[in-house]
Amino acid sequence: MNLITLPHDGIWAVVLGTMQDAGLPHIGCTCARCSQALHDLNQAAYAACLGIVIKRGSETAVTLIDATPDIKYQLGLLANPLGSHPTRLDRLRQPDAIFLTHAHMGHIGGLPQLGPEAMAVEGLPVYAMPALIDLLQAQTLWRPVLERLELRPLQPEIPIAINADCTITPIRVPHRDEWNAGTLAFRIQGPQRSLLYLPDIDAWDLWPQARSILVNVDIALVDASFFSGNELGGRAPVAHPLVTETLTRFADLSTRLMLTHINHTNPILDAGGHENQIMQAAGAELAQTGTFFQI
Ligand SMILES: [Zn+2]
Ligand SMILES: [Zn+2]
Ligand SMILES: [Zn+2]
Repeated sequence: MNLITLPHDGIWAVVLGTMQDAGLPHIGCTCARCSQALHDLNQAAYAACLGIVIKRGSETAVTLIDATPDIKYQLGLLANPLGSHPTRLDRLRQPDAIFLTHAHMGHIGGLPQLGPEAMAVEGLPVYAMPALIDLLQAQTLWRPVLERLELRPLQPEIPIAINADCTITPIRVPHRDEWNAGTLAFRIQGPQRSLLYLPDIDAWDLWPQARSILVNVDIALVDASFFSGNELGGRAPVAHPLVTETLTRFADLSTRLMLTHINHTNPILDAGGHENQIMQAAGAELAQTGTFFQI
């Protein structure tokens, strides 16, 4: 994977991962796609993650949406925008903030990498819903890393300004919630474009405002875990809408629709395959790690 080099000043959204929580290969899976990715790292792919990079001359601010189990690779992709640690020149600078969508493994599983055994960050602001902060703080096992973070509560619909030209607004979405900690999407408003980042949602029907929110952003990166109902050997996919339904619902919008949080079983991963062509014909695209666009 090539390192990210941003061509000029601005506020950039950077796709840092596109897979469901477990990434590709999916642990323990012997399907052809996972077997291939296990033996050829060029075929592997990271858990869904988005970076927001504010670049002004040599100064940058780097925000991650979610801390995935692949965070070390994802920060590595951002080596150029991050630059060096102020005192340890053989290390990358820590990111400037992390926003967490929810408590599932693929979205918080990278937090321990920030702790004393690994990156050893200091005072890194991590934004999350208060119930998720309480849940994290209840885990004594994670105390060493939590002591290095500055946990900051989010409130739905209240924007956080990460600089004068860019806000991140949390929006509650319905999603499997074992601990009553909630799940968020984020609406990111830059000076030029707006973006919705929504990696996990149970069903569009459970979120009546979906269409009005998607129509009012320029770019939407949305949950595309499963293509169709026959993907899991007859078991109904749980806790995610199907790509077929997402395309039917939103393909008519002028919003740039990018599919992310893809399960390893999803046939849209096969470039040129039938399902991938259906997606393209509907005007949607598969999010690609390493791509970036100005917002
Ligand atoms: Zn997820
Ligand atoms: Zn697999
Ligand atoms: Zn989830």
